[in-house]
Amino acid sequence: MMSRTMAEAQLPKRVDAGKLVDSNQQFTAYIDSANLERLNDAVVRCDEPIHCQMVFERGTDRKRVLTGSFHTNVVMCCQRCLGDVTIPLQGEYKLGFVLNDEQAKALPRQLEPVELDEDGKLDLWSTIEDEVLLSLPNFPMHPESECQIMQPEPEPEYTDSDVNRVNPFDVLAKLKQK
Ligand SMILES: [Zn+2]
Repeated sequence: MMSRTMAEAQLPKRVDAGKLVDSNQQFTAYIDSANLERLNDAVVRCDEPIHCQMVFERGTDRKRVLTGSFHTNVVMCCQRCLGDVTIPLQGEYKLGFVLNDEQAKALPRQLEPVELDEDGKLDLWSTIEDEVLLSLPNFPMHPESECQIMQPEPEPEYTDSDVNRVNPFDVLAKLKQK
């Protein structure tokens, strides 16, 4: 609908990469994360859209390039307490469009190759999904102060000097009572 601004629009799934480069197209848009099956499989929950910014342009050597960034939040399983933890994700990428492996090898090193299909079309959703998946932490964890397993059992408070005076035999006696 024409009345929607670009900021509200969902990114198109499949785009003509060459055409977007030629018109130097720029997007600020989102992808509904419900559309990203691999991402949903990799996390506990992903309720937020993936917010994307991207620019299609000619890079050095007239290479066709997509430069962009994304950000979102996902819920993952904390590797310390196994509770839910919200992980902010963000990333930047610089992709060079290629049609085959040969072209991929010939790309300058700072460009990550992304293959277009035989019609020159790019699957934008799965391209961004790849980037989001790459940004997932291997060991998602709460900050220590928020991690449930780090919160000690409620116990009477000891000062340092109290701790020093604890008799190890008292501790053993208490254990035996359990
Ligand atoms: Zn935790």
